[in-house]
Amino acid sequence: TIAPLARVSGCDLQVPLVGGGACTYANLDYAASAPALAQVIDRVQYQLPLYASVHRGAGYPSRVSTDCYEGARDSVARFVNATADQVIVFTRNTTDSLNLLASCVPGETVVLDLEHHANLLPWNKNGRRVVVAADTIDETIRCLVAELCAHPAALLAVTGASNVTGEVLPIRRLADIAHQCGARILVDAAQLAPHRRIDLAADGIDFLAFSGHKLYAPFGAGVLVGRRDWLDAAEPYLAGGGAVREVTTDGVEWACAPERHEAGSPNVLGVAALAQACDTLGGLDWARVQEHERGLAERLRAGLAELEGVRPLRIWRDSTEVVGIVTFTVDGFEAREVAAYLSAEHGIGVRDGRFCAHPLLARLGVGSAVRASIGLGTSSSDIDRLVEALRTLLNTPQ
Ligand code: PMP
Repeated sequence: TIAPLARVSGCDLQVPLVGGGACTYANLDYAASAPALAQVIDRVQYQLPLYASVHRGAGYPSRVSTDCYEGARDSVARFVNATADQVIVFTRNTTDSLNLLASCVPGETVVLDLEHHANLLPWNKNGRRVVVAADTIDETIRCLVAELCAHPAALLAVTGASNVTGEVLPIRRLADIAHQCGARILVDAAQLAPHRRIDLAADGIDFLAFSGHKLYAPFGAGVLVGRRDWLDAAEPYLAGGGAVREVTTDGVEWACAPERHEAGSPNVLGVAALAQACDTLGGLDWARVQEHERGLAERLRAGLAELEGVRPLRIWRDSTEVVGIVTFTVDGFEAREVAAYLSAEHGIGVRDGRFCAHPLLARLGVGSAVRASIGLGTSSSDIDRLVEALRTLLNTPQ
C-alpha cells in the first residue's frame, strides 16, 4: 500500500452517496485544484487577524502584512531558483499571469496546439502562431525548430506538463532551441510546479507562470516570474495606485516591475498561502514525492489496463516523463456519466470534459474524457476505489 505523503484539507471529508449513507471522499482531482496543505492552513489562520493594507499603513498589522507580502517574493524566488534579473509579480492565477506577459511581449509568440486555453488565447494580442504537435516528442521539436527558424518570434510559450495527459515537456531542450532562434521561453507551470522541482537558472527559463490553487494553497493568487527588461518596458497591466512613482494632474511616472504591474490593494492572504506552499514544498524530498506519485500512477494505469473499453489518452508515443494525471475514455459511456456515477455512487471526485484544451481533444478525436489526478494526499486506496468503481460500472448490465 502507498500512504499519503502530506496531510491536506478535506482528507476526512464525508460525502453523501446516492443510495443513502456516506463515505470518505476520494479526491482524484488535484489537477483542477489541490486541497490546502496543513502548513498553509496554519499560515492563513496566523495571518488572518493581522491582514491590513500593504505598503501604505504604518500600523503594526500593515507592517506585518507588508513584510509578509514582500517576503513572499523571496519564497517564490527560492522555490523556482529565479535568477537575479527575474522579478516576481503576484497575479490572480496562471491565466492572469499569461495575460500580463502577453501585454509585454515585443513580437509574435509560438505555441503548440496541445496547450490549455490560458496558454493559447492571450497570445493573440501580438500575433500567435500555432504548431501542431506530431505523435513523437522528437518530431514535435523538429516542427517547432522549423517554425522558429522560418520566421522570427519573440516568445515560445509551452506548458511544463499537459493538463490533459500529464506528459512532461523537455523544457531544457526547448529553452535552448528558443534561445538559439532568438526567442525567449515561457513555461506554463500550472501543472508542473506541484509535481516537479523547477529550476529557472539551470533550465534557462525566462518566464514562468503558476497558480496557488494548484499548489496546495487556496484560490486567488498566482505568480509571473520573469525577466525584468520586458516587464519594465511594457505599459502597466493595470493602471492605478501602487504602480506609480509620481502622478501629476496631467502625467504619470510609472514604477518598475513588480509594482508596475500590481496596481490596487493586493491579495495578502492569498500570497501568504502561496508563499507557504512554496516554502513547504521546497523543503520536501522530491525524490520521495516522485516515487509516491509514480507508484500511484502506475497502479492506476495497470488497474485501468485490466478493464476492457477504458482507453487512456496520450499525446506522444515516445514520452517517458508523466506527472500524476491519467485521462481516459470509457467505451459506451459519456465522460460526464462516468464522472457523475463515480461521485454519486462511490464518493470519488474526478474531472470530465475537454479540460480547456479543445484543439488537443479535437486532434486526438475525443469528444470528452475523464481525468483522474494524483497529489500528495493520495493513497493507494483512492486508486483502488476508482478502479473497482469502474469495474462495477462496466459489469453492470446497461
Ligand atoms: N495552464 C494549465 C496547464 C492548467 O492546467 C490551468 C488550469 N487548469 C491553467 C493554465 C489555468 O490556471 P488558472 O485557472 O489557475 O488560471
